[in-house]
Formats: sequence, C-alpha cells, structure tokens
Amino acid sequence: MPERFSPSLQQKIEDRLRYYEDLGIQLFYKDRSANGGAAESEEATAPVAACSRSAVFEEPALPKSMPKAAPVKLAASLPPIVAPPAGPSLFEEKVADDTLPKIREDLGDCTRCKLHKGRNKLVFGDGNPKARLVFVGEGPGADEDMQGLPFVGRAGKLLTQMIVAMGLERRDVYICNVVKCRPPQNRAPEPDEVETCSPYLLRQIDVIHPKVIVCLGAVAAKTLLNTTRGISNFRGEWLDWRGYKLMATYHPAYLLRNPPAKADVWKDLQKVMAELGLALPKKSKS
Ligand code: SF4
Repeated sequence: MPERFSPSLQQKIEDRLRYYEDLGIQLFYKDRSANGGAAESEEATAPVAACSRSAVFEEPALPKSMPKAAPVKLAASLPPIVAPPAGPSLFEEKVADDTLPKIREDLGDCTRCKLHKGRNKLVFGDGNPKARLVFVGEGPGADEDMQGLPFVGRAGKLLTQMIVAMGLERRDVYICNVVKCRPPQNRAPEPDEVETCSPYLLRQIDVIHPKVIVCLGAVAAKTLLNTTRGISNFRGEWLDWRGYKLMATYHPAYLLRNPPAKADVWKDLQKVMAELGLALPKKSKS
C-alpha cells in the first residue's frame, strides 16, 4: 500500500479490498497477498478469512455495465402484513410525533415477552437516525447481548466489511433486529416473540424513513413480509413494503458458514448501491 495514504484511509482501503477478496473478486490487488497480506489484522478478519479462503469460489460475474435501479416489483403474490391480534395495531397506525428516543422509552425495561428472562442488555438498534439504508436482522447474539449493540460479533464484523465495501460506514446506516432481546441458545425467535416485539421495529423504520431496507436473513424477511416462503424465492429482488423499497439477502452468520454465498450477497448489495447512487466497482479489463 503506498505511503501517501493516511493510516485511516489505508485501513479503509485494506478493509474494502479484503471484503472483495472474501467475495472472490481479485481484480484490484493481485500482489497484495505477497506484499501486504501478513500485515492484516488477524483479530478482525481471521475467522472470516479462514472460512472463505478454504472454500472454492467462483469469481462472481460482475455486471457488464452499471446496473440500473430496477423498477420496484410489487409483492403482489406476498400476503399482506397482518396486524397482531392483541394490543394497538402498530402495524397500521403510526404513533404521532414518534421518535427513536420515544420508542426506546416506550420499551423501557421491557418484559412483554419471555425473551426478557435471559436478557443481559436490550439491543435497541444503532446508527444514523436519518439513514437512507436500514439493515434488519433477526435478533441479538451473545456479543450483542453483552454490549447492547447490534451486529458486533463475528457476523457483525462481516456486516461491517459489507457496509465498507459498499462505500459506507456503519454510522451512515441504521442496524436493528426483529427482536431486541437475545433468544436462548441463539434459537430463532418464536412467533409470539416476533409478534410482540416487531411493532417497535416498525416504528423505528417509520421514524427513520429510509430509502432502502435490507432484511438480513429469513426471519427478518419473513417477519416484515409476513410470508412463509423461503428467502431464496425472493432474495435479491426489489419488493415494495409499505411504500419502502425492500430487499432480502442472506444473513452474515449464514455467510460465515457458507462463504460461496457471499457472491450472491455482493450482487444484492450492488443493486442497493445503485439504488442509493453509490459508486459501483469498475469491471475488470481482462
Ligand atoms: S424481545 Fe422485545 S418484546 Fe420481548 S422482552 Fe425484549 S424488547 Fe420486550
């Protein structure tokens, strides 16, 4: 890496190149492993790199031209969002003068569902309250439960790499989950827990009013879309959800287990980048 870059810029460039490398894209730095690879922060990237480098990646097909933002596909075949059977219908009715602090205050030391019993810290969400891009995950894991912040474990580090690869930083986006307390043994949230907690997620989204929502994984996608269809049926497609453009893609934790799927996620994220007007990677001249 040339000396003329500041250390912080150099780190950002290395992070971005490293993510491209994890995706199997090796168009920009053919000599990096010989020259600078040993200087990488193993603490931050070793688990991801260990998975991906052992896998046989096919280089993902880069777009032949700058992808245009696809027209919004109405999710006509998806069932409508259904309001929860009890309590105020926050799915349909907006709270007047709502704000993120107000939603957090309303949650308080929440005991509305059984997930509170094993909770260390409630994980409300984190990021830019005026973000144009919101990532929605499933629920907190062990690291998130300890820190009270979303996506700070291994999967979170990968998500951060994905965000940096898009040309953004974590503080540019907002990250939250369907349920705000850690399910025991990292199991998937159960329907009653999702039903109880998700109205607060919907309030968060309405307050932030992003241009794009990216659902990370099946639980988030199925919750927001209220569908039982497998995520592979609509992953990477633009869907209209309550007036927002929504795309579902794989959860970073799934990518840690299945590194080849990173190529699919990278394609999805490039659609998001195009929609947000972010610079896309240039295609190879080879
Ligand atoms: S998961 Fe949501 S509804 Fe359940 S206790 Fe935590 S904050 Fe309350």
